[in-house]
Amino acid sequence: MRACVDIGGTKVSVSLHAGGDDRVLLATRTEPTARSGTPDVLGRQVVRMVDEACAYLGIPSQSVQRAGVCAPGPFVLEQGAIALASPNLCGGLACGHDRSNDWRTVPLEAPLRHRFQQLRIENDAVAALEAERRWGALQALDHCAYVTWSTGVGSGLCVGGRVLRGKHGNAGHVGHIFVSDDTHAICGCGNVGDLEALVGGHAVAHRLGVPMSELLDAAQAGDAQAGQAVDAMCRVMGRALYDLIALLDLQRIALGGSVFFHHQALLLPRLIAQVRGRLASVTDGCELVPAGLGARVGDYGALALLD
Ligand SMILES: [Zn+2]
Repeated sequence: MRACVDIGGTKVSVSLHAGGDDRVLLATRTEPTARSGTPDVLGRQVVRMVDEACAYLGIPSQSVQRAGVCAPGPFVLEQGAIALASPNLCGGLACGHDRSNDWRTVPLEAPLRHRFQQLRIENDAVAALEAERRWGALQALDHCAYVTWSTGVGSGLCVGGRVLRGKHGNAGHVGHIFVSDDTHAICGCGNVGDLEALVGGHAVAHRLGVPMSELLDAAQAGDAQAGQAVDAMCRVMGRALYDLIALLDLQRIALGGSVFFHHQALLLPRLIAQVRGRLASVTDGCELVPAGLGARVGDYGALALLD
């Protein structure tokens, strides 16, 4: 048995997997992400949830010694071990929207190394990319990306068959590229006018005073003002997708994340319109498609890290 752990800003999901080629996840459990107390509470939560999953299946917890863990970035190294410096988890970072703690980092690798002999931790979008390449919409492609549009925006990138990681596993943080000097658009990371500040679910709700899902529902229902706001967001997001294609000469981008996934009929044509015809020699060979694994891309992302 191996453990698959998907850590998000709002929830932690833990499953066990028996090994082999199937994708059957066992004893899945989900809890709100621990975000108060000392920063090591998250690592302890993961270990407890894995042990509870073992107890549920009636197996000794020590029999689970491998874990694949996907978590929100950016990652930093503390004494050589991965810690999370995500503004969505750490209230102590410059402009974190969450003030329920004063953490600046959350140690992750160090506490999990005590529990698991084999451990792989990756950025959640990188893990999703690996799952999409293996089982989803990016199979058999050597030049591709997974882009998540959710409370935040992120990506996993693959060129020439190699998944890009960067010096600390932070490659693909497309949400924090600058796209505007809009001084009203402030990202949780502190940047003013970056992509996530303009289109991320958290930042949009903060700036416009309406939850992203309501805005998208209103646009879908024909509300003109909401429609304009969504068009503006898709112009920005579509340009970012174009930029990735132009930079990396991609064959396909798979799109996921709760914002995109629940309103793809509204968003996908608008995103495609921002890419089509621009530098056609490069973009004509690239498709934008919904992620194949849907809402399970997080769990399968963790599973994809285990082989
Ligand atoms: Zn940012």
